Amino acid sequence: MQAYRAALLRFDDQHRPVYDTDGLLVTAPDQRGVHTVRAAGSHSALIGQFADLEVHDWRDHLIAPGFVDMHVHYPQTDVIGSPADGLLPWLEHYTFPHEARFADPDYARGVAEFFFDELQRHGVTTALTFATSHPASVTAAFEAAQARGLRFITGKVLQDRHSPDGVRDETEQSLIDSENLLQSWHGVDRLGYAITPRFAPSCTPAQLRGAGELAARHPDVWIQSHVAENHDEVRWAHELFPEAGSYLGVYGDFGLLRERAVYAHCIHLSQGDRALMRRSGAVAAVCPTSNLFLGSGFFDYLAADSAGMAYGLASDVGGGTSFSPFKTMLAAYFVGREGQSKPGLSLKPSQLWWQHTAGAAQALGLKGVVGNLQPGHEADFVVLNPQASPLLARRTQQASDLEELLFALIVLGDERVVTRTVIASR
Ligand SMILES: [Zn+2]
Repeated sequence: MQAYRAALLRFDDQHRPVYDTDGLLVTAPDQRGVHTVRAAGSHSALIGQFADLEVHDWRDHLIAPGFVDMHVHYPQTDVIGSPADGLLPWLEHYTFPHEARFADPDYARGVAEFFFDELQRHGVTTALTFATSHPASVTAAFEAAQARGLRFITGKVLQDRHSPDGVRDETEQSLIDSENLLQSWHGVDRLGYAITPRFAPSCTPAQLRGAGELAARHPDVWIQSHVAENHDEVRWAHELFPEAGSYLGVYGDFGLLRERAVYAHCIHLSQGDRALMRRSGAVAAVCPTSNLFLGSGFFDYLAADSAGMAYGLASDVGGGTSFSPFKTMLAAYFVGREGQSKPGLSLKPSQLWWQHTAGAAQALGLKGVVGNLQPGHEADFVVLNPQASPLLARRTQQASDLEELLFALIVLGDERVVTRTVIASR
């Protein structure tokens, strides 16, 4: 059994923060050897309930759930910060040539290790991640995540058209490879597989149909793709699939909208599309730093809420500009504030934080598993230092309540704040 004394943040079922300024987190391994939360609450209320507790003293620090990144491309770690005239030129000039290198397993392994080091430095404990079209890229990521004991989801990218040599795959083989990888890795330790059509324009109808059939045969496997990121892309999807009701509807037509289906961006959707998201159980990965970087547009929180569609936050590296959840939450605040293309709003700091922890986990179908520190959850968490920089120390000392403290961390925080990232299986 392990116990940690610190300020403690978690969330209730109504998405509200639960906060103990002098808290105690008690964890113990389950039958798999994965530490789960046994108790969480105020130190004074809990300390008498456990005999012989060895308490790690992190007073002056904040313990919070590990961050969950709903959409990131590990192979694009080296593409971060590449300038381009929007999404499609960026793919063509930087991303596709770089991803071609992942046919080499050694290269893929090296990037995967670096990627997971970065996630840990930034306090990200679970990620839903694109690999590349090469099966070796998937194996490399799973092996690295398994060795680190992570809850982690990835899959082989499907792209059998409108893609250059080196990344384009072959329809039938791509589906065979996907199913083989799925059977090798899904449900092994804390790993999960995601069927991964890159986006509708890069997949033939036959490939999308095969992906949908695979998804129907394996309902507990994830689906991940992109939709409605940018106007040129939306126009292109309409040209390629004129019979579909909308770009999002293409995925629905091929059986790719269901629970555990995660669509990055979801910017240029109609209210009918948003209702389709809610009805199907598909969810959005909101990628604010990427959307600002590529000038794609602004996720409409009010429209998403009024349609009842679920969403969480994501870095979308390498279109995104940082692995840091603090940068992502701040960018999400900017996106929410934007009031020219949609009504602007001020997202509450605890709400931004929820979107990147418990909310993201819930959208992934992992509610009760990760993203929170209520009893029963796998104990992936971060130890944060609100005094990590002089300005942050000065500002957080003057915070009069939890919302002010969280907002100071969101606005001023970066990896220096992350004193430790604790993985439940370690
Ligand atoms: Zn993406």
